[in-house]
Amino acid sequence: MRMRRSGRKPLAIGKLPTVVPSRKAALVRRALLRWFDTNGRDFPWRQEEVPVYGRVLAEILLQRTRAETVATFFDRFIARFPSWQAITDSTVEEIGEFLKPIGLWRRRSASLMRLAHEMVQRDGEFPRRRVDVESLPGVGQYIANSILLFSSGRPEPLLDVNMARVLERLFGPRTLVDIRDDPHLQSAARAVVRGKRAVEVNWAILDLAANVCTIKRPQCQKCPLFKSCRYVKQPR
Ligand code: SF4
Repeated sequence: MRMRRSGRKPLAIGKLPTVVPSRKAALVRRALLRWFDTNGRDFPWRQEEVPVYGRVLAEILLQRTRAETVATFFDRFIARFPSWQAITDSTVEEIGEFLKPIGLWRRRSASLMRLAHEMVQRDGEFPRRRVDVESLPGVGQYIANSILLFSSGRPEPLLDVNMARVLERLFGPRTLVDIRDDPHLQSAARAVVRGKRAVEVNWAILDLAANVCTIKRPQCQKCPLFKSCRYVKQPR
């Protein structure tokens, strides 16, 4: 398949065509939730008592970083910086002490600091409209989705390369290189991530991507989505 590179014009998410059969998406969602109830990973930012601040912070730290690595310092990070205000009261170097092991620490610390300053101005309240969320400093589509998911309870997908891999194997390949612009992937993610347990559906896909639907040698025989998956039916 030849992929077309796109200019970065934001996708009109509310107007996506439905390219994924809703019945198949519902089957996938139910199977994922059943699997997640016994196989989901247990990370500190997933505990019930973690406030929206902690959940969004975790998503910022998880970008381009393995969850197991973030888990090694997340509790200490939250203890040292329990609020946006605590971040603004510190320095980029102090934040960097935690972020050095995960790379790009100076850039990531500075970006977190800019967002924290904005959030202090807003008394810690995230905006509710997507356009306003995406105008926050350092917030792109993925973090905007996580903010809307955790702060407003909207069924937004945490669509990253790992979720994209699972969705493409289930529903077929994207047509654009950039996940953020691809209507097929965006539509598939939104068809699956629905309902009252949207947060857990997201976590289930990410956990499946990490432990079962891996990049190399996916363990299809153990997968709860085996019967619905296009990938396993393709000749290889
Ligand atoms: S059946 Fe295999 S390829 Fe399909 S979602 Fe499961 S692990 Fe991935």
